[in-house]
Amino acid sequence: MPSHAEPGKGSLAIVGLGPGRREYMTPRALKAVAHADYVLGHSTYLEPLEPLLKGKTVISSSMGKEVDRAEQAIDLAKNHAVAIVSGGDAGVYGMASIVLEVLEHRGVVIPVEVIPGVTAATAAASRVGSPLSGDFAVISLSDLLTPLDVIETRLDAVFALGIPVVLYNPKSRGRPHNFALAVEHARKHLGQTTPIAIVKNALREDEETVITTLGEIEEHEPAVDMHTTVIIGGTESRIWRMGNDVKGIITPRGYHRKYLY
Ligand code: SAH
Repeated sequence: MPSHAEPGKGSLAIVGLGPGRREYMTPRALKAVAHADYVLGHSTYLEPLEPLLKGKTVISSSMGKEVDRAEQAIDLAKNHAVAIVSGGDAGVYGMASIVLEVLEHRGVVIPVEVIPGVTAATAAASRVGSPLSGDFAVISLSDLLTPLDVIETRLDAVFALGIPVVLYNPKSRGRPHNFALAVEHARKHLGQTTPIAIVKNALREDEETVITTLGEIEEHEPAVDMHTTVIIGGTESRIWRMGNDVKGIITPRGYHRKYLY
């Protein structure tokens, strides 16, 4: 990965920064940021990188400006080492696709690398046991870029499979009702005792987790916001207890079908 590249010798790293704290960023992601002359991203993702940003040109922007940010990153990357950062994994509801699409449309030929990060699904899962041990599905409830009827068709299809379903973007001010819609679809296919985990700010300072069930989810709905990932268990998922404490959710991988333990 060239640093301080010569004119015409730029490079572009599309970097997944993981859920938040530095210790959950990969060494590769940190190296890409360290080598960059320009770092672009949303301000919340840039904050934990502060000590690494000295001497670099930092371009922070707000949500909803992703296309402008992608275009700017590509223009700069023609002659400079550029890192464009995204929370979690850059390829999961992140910046990677828009950057690659713009690159493709413009026919720009430069070295480009997508660097993976810990995505919210696995970050959240790790805080509540092992709810995603086998097949699972991921759906975003944001209808900013996907029409709501498409989201509903997908919700219906994945809940019908009885596998755990991870909901990204479960709620925001602009779309407060999409979470209730998802719950309605879940109830068509799953029992009221189906375990649910609500994980807010996974692996960040102000993390909060709630373990509940599909039958009682309405009581906990206020805990769901745009910083939250919700995991709705599948037909085999169960609440995990240690002593009398509810610790999380286990979805057995299937070892019990083959082994005695
Ligand atoms: N690229 C990101 C996802 C961006 S979409 C990734 O791979 O994780 C934004 C949504 O991700 C949020 O609305 C929330 O549902 C989820 N999210 C991101 N970081 C999170 C965290 N630390 N804790 C809980 N949910 C998170």
